[in-house]
Amino acid sequence: MKISEKQLAQVNDRIKALINADSFYGKKLKEAGITEVRTPEDFESLPFSEKKDLRDAYPLGLMTAPEEEIVRIHSSSGTTGKPVIIPYTKKDVEDWATMFARCYETAGITSKDRIHITPGYGLWTAGIGFQAGCEKLGAMAVPMGPGNTDKQLEMMTALKSTVLCATSSYALLLAEEIAKRGIKDQIHLKKGVIGSERWSQKMRDRISKELGIELYDIYGLTEIYGPGIGINCEYNTGMHIWDDFIYLEIIDPVTGKNVPDGEQGEIVITTLVKEGAPLIRYRTHDLSRIIPGKCPCGREYPRIDVIAGRTDDMMKIKGVNVFPSQIEEVLGTFPEISSEYQIRISHLDGKDTMRIYVETTGDNSFADLSERIAAKIKSAIGFTPIVKVVEIGVLPRSMKKTARVIDERFD
Ligand code: ZN
Repeated sequence: MKISEKQLAQVNDRIKALINADSFYGKKLKEAGITEVRTPEDFESLPFSEKKDLRDAYPLGLMTAPEEEIVRIHSSSGTTGKPVIIPYTKKDVEDWATMFARCYETAGITSKDRIHITPGYGLWTAGIGFQAGCEKLGAMAVPMGPGNTDKQLEMMTALKSTVLCATSSYALLLAEEIAKRGIKDQIHLKKGVIGSERWSQKMRDRISKELGIELYDIYGLTEIYGPGIGINCEYNTGMHIWDDFIYLEIIDPVTGKNVPDGEQGEIVITTLVKEGAPLIRYRTHDLSRIIPGKCPCGREYPRIDVIAGRTDDMMKIKGVNVFPSQIEEVLGTFPEISSEYQIRISHLDGKDTMRIYVETTGDNSFADLSERIAAKIKSAIGFTPIVKVVEIGVLPRSMKKTARVIDERFD
């Protein structure tokens, strides 16, 4: 997937605005002596924007349009350092609602639906994005925000909400509560629009089954409008990305080079028409891949896979980039083992070694199990790990996935 002529023209327009505003990116371009891009190769050599650049611009250094045109700000709360503040013009707010309404439409949601919105309102881009898209579509918004499960369920049953917008964990909590109270017959939900983080297939199946709904993954981040820049369609073959508003690339997070379509890497986003705070080649640190080919739904919008994790999770072993999610995916296909596993990476005799410990459930014979798992992992990551099968309960139980990977090479 290469950037188109039209998208290049849009980038050049944004480059002009950034240079005129003398923003951090405008300065980067000036230093590099760049005033425009003519080819996809020019574009791929533009410097990246990083979260740190955005923090350094605190409070309003990202503002690229005249102040009188700014109608709103949003902010992402960082766990470290200063927050990032993103200014929006009237057009930015409208564009975002247009994209979000398109997300709902792609999920088969119509003006007849009643949309129960549980993400938070305020500085966040969450709640208000779900609401603006809903109103643009003409559906009925039920602006709940998070928390107060009693009230949530009361409104959901009284109003006969048909769509639930939530994080995966909140959707699961509500699903479990509905099951516990035995009120499933009073629930009218048909679809769930779930903020896209990495969540397991097991969790997906559980929410979908308990609530009896179809689930849709919606993608986005505060730095780039907010949620609503892409969603999966009814064929569930990845999330369609609205490339008339943003251009999305996948890069190797180590080398910074673009990877071929289909290969996993870091999502990098360029806003094509944003006025308040345009971003060029913003590194999201989210991992995914472009899904090659056309979707059976006929939509021309490119697709990315569901988010596989964060670049911070990446391991470099034998010169190959490996993500825990790739291993997890393979392990998930073996009914003979539990959901627990541990990866140990060591460096012996000048070679990297990867050991994967898995637990047998004890329900099945596990003859050749190590070899079968090792072979399947090899086909996923390109080299053969050592797989050790242990008895159930032997591996440490932890909610943190970092505890699943132990890198002993740098001790
Ligand atoms: Zn599609």
